[in-house]
Amino acid sequence: MKTLRIFSFFLAVLSLSGCAVSLPEQSKTLLAMDTVMNLTIYGDTDDTALSRAEDLIYELEDLLSTTDEQSELYALNQGESVTLSPPVRDVLDQALALCSDTGGALDITIYPVVRAWGFTTSTYQVPDRDTLSALLERVDYSQVHLTGDTLTLPEGMELDLGAVAKGYASDQVAGLFRACGIDCAQIDLGGSIQVLGNSPDGDPWRIGIRDPEGESAEDYVAVVETADQAVVTSGMYERNFEQDGVRYGHIIDPSTGYPADHGLASVTVISPSATLADALSTALFVMGRDRAAEYWRSRDDFEFVLIGEDGSITISQGIADSFSLAGEQGSLSFEVIRR
Ligand code: FAD
Ligand code: MG
Repeated sequence: MKTLRIFSFFLAVLSLSGCAVSLPEQSKTLLAMDTVMNLTIYGDTDDTALSRAEDLIYELEDLLSTTDEQSELYALNQGESVTLSPPVRDVLDQALALCSDTGGALDITIYPVVRAWGFTTSTYQVPDRDTLSALLERVDYSQVHLTGDTLTLPEGMELDLGAVAKGYASDQVAGLFRACGIDCAQIDLGGSIQVLGNSPDGDPWRIGIRDPEGESAEDYVAVVETADQAVVTSGMYERNFEQDGVRYGHIIDPSTGYPADHGLASVTVISPSATLADALSTALFVMGRDRAAEYWRSRDDFEFVLIGEDGSITISQGIADSFSLAGEQGSLSFEVIRR
């Protein structure tokens, strides 16, 4: 049974400054993966592109949901032997590689722990240490083997693609749009925004990063100007609960079984790949600022914006020229991490 709760958004495409060229625009709003999604395409384009993108997203949701008893992921989690369909194989392949590359900060076998905290059902609770220790025995991506189109899931292990599936869906929609000849579009899947080309006025898109402490989705702490990139944000305030004065977030540190607590309020990752950006926004949140910076130095395919619980802002060198603080924050400063 699916629970339905619409997420507030971490990101938004800020209104475009006076369009020099007025391109025809078509858009579609849909609800999938518990998220309000907005797809917008510009130009004289294929009329079927938006409905095909919508079908594609629903198809992926049907395959990848942990709670839908008809999904392929559900069957895998029941220990069934499943011949994987191409998208499930593809997303698992990419996700497992990133679990390994992040040293397990991302671990898609985290599902038993996520469920014990009640994040899948909204019946929140703080599990006791013994329960978490026992559940962590069932968390280890390195025991999951993907061979051809079959996957072996050791007994008791269960997968959760909540940290990567929206990014994967975004990449698939971007691929579909490009195949339709669309070169100006925005794919807004809640905390994941992917843009094709420059904005319709020819300038880079302006993506607002929400203030984690802000009261409304309109409170932006910063703006990133970008083209042909995905911008994905993770943070504990999307899904959390409070007990005895302590706030518990939905991003779990697989090394402890407890919500990641390394002083970060949100992590935004910017990359041409939305799958990578989604996976790493979650993984960097688990790593914390210093490990995240070190990890960034080991790769050249993403940039980041880290917002600390203390309000501090740290960005990576590659976006230094396209990043600016918004509004009243303009008087504050941010630190740039260099290679
Ligand atoms: P992200 O930071 O990208 O991911 C965090 C999520 O990943 C956590 O919620 C947890 O599920 C998992 N996770 C936590 N820690 C780790 C870790 N260290 N490594 C790997 N994964 C981790 N929600 C509902 O309430 N009802 C639904 O019906 C529903 N259906 C969904 C169907 C699909 C196909 C998907 C992908 C998600 C669905 N969701 C549903 C979940 C929801 O949309 C969000 O994806 C999710 O809760 C948080 O995503 P995020 O992008 O905010 O956070
Ligand atoms: Mg993620």
